[in-house]
Order: sequence, then structure tokens, then C-alpha cells
Amino acid sequence: MFSAISTVMGCYFSLCGAGETLAPKYTLDMVRALLENGHHVNVTTNGTLTKRFRELEGWDAELLRSLHFAFSFHYLELLRLKKLDVFFDNIRYVKSLGCSFVLQLNLCDEYLPYLDEIKRVSMENVGAWPQIAATRKEVALDSKVLFETALSDEEYIAKGREFDSPLFEFTVKNFNVKRREFCYAGAWAFQLNLLTGELRPCYHSHRSQNIYEDVDAPIRKMSVGCSCGSLFCMNSSHFMSLGVIPDIETPSYADLRDRPEAGWYTSEMRAFLGGKLGESNVELPACERMAATAQGRADNAYGKARSLGGKVLRSVGLKK
Ligand code: SF4
Repeated sequence: MFSAISTVMGCYFSLCGAGETLAPKYTLDMVRALLENGHHVNVTTNGTLTKRFRELEGWDAELLRSLHFAFSFHYLELLRLKKLDVFFDNIRYVKSLGCSFVLQLNLCDEYLPYLDEIKRVSMENVGAWPQIAATRKEVALDSKVLFETALSDEEYIAKGREFDSPLFEFTVKNFNVKRREFCYAGAWAFQLNLLTGELRPCYHSHRSQNIYEDVDAPIRKMSVGCSCGSLFCMNSSHFMSLGVIPDIETPSYADLRDRPEAGWYTSEMRAFLGGKLGESNVELPACERMAATAQGRADNAYGKARSLGGKVLRSVGLKK
């Protein structure tokens, strides 16, 4: 899956696999092709596949400057596999090539006895504490979402705050907050399933276009508008920080991830991901905004009716 964010300087593609993103050999082929076409790319990775990082050797410096890695810090697993050194060596390697990175830790209860250790190890290796991602229970997108913890919400948030992480603050601030403002997902940002070619405005969207069926066909743009079907903006630290809802002021994507005191981002990446989509896209006039919202609501109603129809047919054995 990746999302493409349109800007005047090309798009921002954020690649995230269902398993390790760098496991397939073709991932780096795709990354290179995107970079060569003038885009910026993020790869979310567990940071352990050294041979993949070494394949970056010899890439043009200009391409590498447009490449960003989100290193997912699986501390206990790295200890178990004795790969902590490998992990940090790989981070330092991509940094030495001119790439930017963020070190991010999904806060979960197993880490609670190790938080001071995690801070120390991170500081020693990459000059700052990790950014913290809140871990949530994965449930349907339209029912209440909880933190994945045995702690109370207050206790969990207090633990995350020990890391002084803008990423965590922003995620917590937007957790379970229903968005009713006009959202340009579907026009300025998309979600694409790389396997099938299905392109959708956002996670909950019922409308889609298969861009593999006719690669010359123009991408149909229609903003979600005020019809977001999610309980809250599930990836607010990506979409909202990039400015997909221009009526809401937010820190930038770079503000949430870079540790400037440790120089995780290059100045070029900071400039690119410090911007907002509204700087390079044109907002719609009121009448078109209303039409987009009406269309979005109709799509949601159609999607719900179809899903209900499927359940009924399954219950009477007419559909598997
Ligand atoms: S508010 Fe967030 S979840 Fe909803 S459509 Fe926009 S980007 Fe997607």
C-alpha cells in the first residue's frame, strides 16, 4: 500500500508493506523509478535487511536526498535476534548516503520496563530519543478505537509523553476525534494497493479506480469533502500534517518526525516535508466543495447498503 501526495515538487510516496517492506527485491526497483521521476519516497522498514540497504550504494546523490526511511524500532525483537547493532548500523549507513530518517517506536506494554534503556540506546546511536507512535487495537474503522494497553488511557499517554515526542502528541490529540472539515483526500492524496492497482481516496472509501486496467486513463479526482467515513483520521500524522484538511492548522510532517538536534533530516527533506499540500494545490470554490461532499455521502450510503446486502446474502447462504 502507498499513498501519493501531490505537490508542485512531485509527489510523496509512502510505501508500507503488510510484512517487511524491503523483503521483496522489487521494492527498491520501484523506489528508484519513483525517485528518477522526480518524486520523494518514504519506506517504512524494520531496518534489519542489510543487503537491501547496501543495494543503495552507487545511487545518485540527488536521488538519495529524496529518500526517507521510517525505521520501526522493535526493541525486544532486535535484542532477541541479536540484531540491535545491525539495525543501528543500517540507520547510520542510509544517513551517511544522504537519506533522511525517523526512528519510531510503537509504544506497547512489553516495552514499559525498558523505556529508560530504549532512550539511552537511541541517544547513544542516533543522538535522540525515538518518536513514539501510539499502538491501537485494530478493529473496524467505524467502531470506537482503543489504545492497545492494559494501562488506563491517562497512564498510557503519560508513558508516551516521557519521550517528548511531537509525533505522539499529535496522534493523541487527534485520536478518536471525528473530522467534519473539508478533506482533500481523493484529490490531493490517495491510497493505492500495489498488488491490485486499486486506488482509493482514503481507507474507508467505497469509491475506487483500478489504475492498472488502463495506465493511460487519467486519475479521477474527487475529494472526500466533509464526508469522511472514518471514526477519526486514522493516519492523522501523515495526512493531516501534510495538510489534506487545509482548514486545520497542524505541525508539518517534518516537525512530527525530525529530531533537529540530532539532524535526522537533511535540509532538503526538511524543506520538502515542512511544506503543506495547500501551497501547491488549488482549493475548490464553495459550490464544488458542496458537490464533492454530496457525492462522498452518496458513496458512503451506497457502500453501507452494499455491505448490508452482502451480509444478508451470506446469512441465507446465497453468498460466501
Ligand atoms: S479526514 Fe483523514 S481519514 Fe478522513 S478522509 Fe481525510 S485523510 Fe482520510
